[in-house]
Amino acid sequence: MKFDTILVRGGYDAKNPPRTIAEPIYQTAAYYFDDATYAKELFALQKEGFIYTRLGNPTLDIFEKRMAMLDDGVGALTTSSGSSAIMLAIQNIAVAGDEIVSASSLYGGTYNMFSNTFKKFGIKVTLVDVDNLEQIKNAVTPKTKAIFAESIGNPNANIPEFEKIASIAHNAQIPLIIDNTFATPYLFKSKDYGADIVVYSTTKYINGHGNSIGGMVVDLGTFDWTQGKFQEMCTPDASYHGVVFTDAFKNAAYILKMRTQLMRDLGPCASPFNTFLTMQGMETLSLRMERHVANANKIAEFLSKHKYVTFVNYPGLKTDKYYERQQKYMPKGAGSVFTFGVKGGRSTGEKFINELKLFLHVANVGDARSMIIHPGSTTHSQLSDEQLLSAGISNETVRISVGLEDWEDLIADLDCALEASQK
Ligand SMILES: *Cc1c(COP(=O)(O)O)cnc(C)c1O
Repeated sequence: MKFDTILVRGGYDAKNPPRTIAEPIYQTAAYYFDDATYAKELFALQKEGFIYTRLGNPTLDIFEKRMAMLDDGVGALTTSSGSSAIMLAIQNIAVAGDEIVSASSLYGGTYNMFSNTFKKFGIKVTLVDVDNLEQIKNAVTPKTKAIFAESIGNPNANIPEFEKIASIAHNAQIPLIIDNTFATPYLFKSKDYGADIVVYSTTKYINGHGNSIGGMVVDLGTFDWTQGKFQEMCTPDASYHGVVFTDAFKNAAYILKMRTQLMRDLGPCASPFNTFLTMQGMETLSLRMERHVANANKIAEFLSKHKYVTFVNYPGLKTDKYYERQQKYMPKGAGSVFTFGVKGGRSTGEKFINELKLFLHVANVGDARSMIIHPGSTTHSQLSDEQLLSAGISNETVRISVGLEDWEDLIADLDCALEASQK
């Protein structure tokens, strides 16, 4: 099946009973065990089947199969949010005393998780400039368990040199984890450039309609966990009668371990209803992304020529420093979330946002509706000035998420508000 066929048909066959055309919502907490032997085998991971919705659910199962097919992975796990997907992706391989190397250009919530909450867990995250390969290499120590980066960095839309970072990771026998939320599998195929694990906030473009929080971890099955640094993956697990994940599940060991240990014990599972809504939204991912990118290109072009705009960070612009990487890694486009500067600084930026009529002032992105925010006073307000700078944000910075409206209406709205902001 090709990409667009997977989007609407992957992981579900309407020809099997109950023959519903729309994917069914299995709104249940638990499942009936036929007999004692069956139950025993399920709990010992000797048989596949549903036990309890925290561990798995047939609606979520369709979504997981579909996402794994889109990224050409071996398995996936739905989570209650993108944040919990990132948390599980790291905790599945890093414990107290371990380290992670991460790009510093991060979604604000991830930045906080890494620099504050993980510190309390005893996991040290070293933040690096994703464009400085030497710095990344030097940050990796014998305790480092993974390298983490966003495929299109938040909020400035920087695009890393994926295969070079992957080879730094693989030389150190650790995996590369990519947060592919802003690009989606439609624009960027993580597996082609050396990623091992992909995480998503499906709240954004995957759902596309802003009606459900959700997350996904996809295991690409590329990483060999038996090389030495990941003992938990390849030695007997006491909580499952001594099962060895790499023996029992081969190259799907990572995602099976995540489901059976972390989802079981920490519990950030998704709701079947939210998952249904997300899958329905995802059916139109290709169509929407095409329009998001076309609108974003027109708006970035317009802004880059505007007298009250001091900078535009959009890799789709020929003058952007990431243009060549965009052409190479995601030739269909650079998504529709990017930043620009409104001349005059903080108060002018705030005035600009207040003057907008069509753009919605919202702390979200990847929605059908166009959205805008001033990161310095909202999403990144917990960051010190120094941290702000390392995340590439100034007081002039405005983050925009271009939606699916008519681009002429969007440009008119921006133009009026830019004029008014300078009065
Ligand atoms: C939104 C977002 C997250 C967090 O996802 P939630 O679904 O809001 O928990 C993580 N990474 C990126 C890039 C995001 O945009």
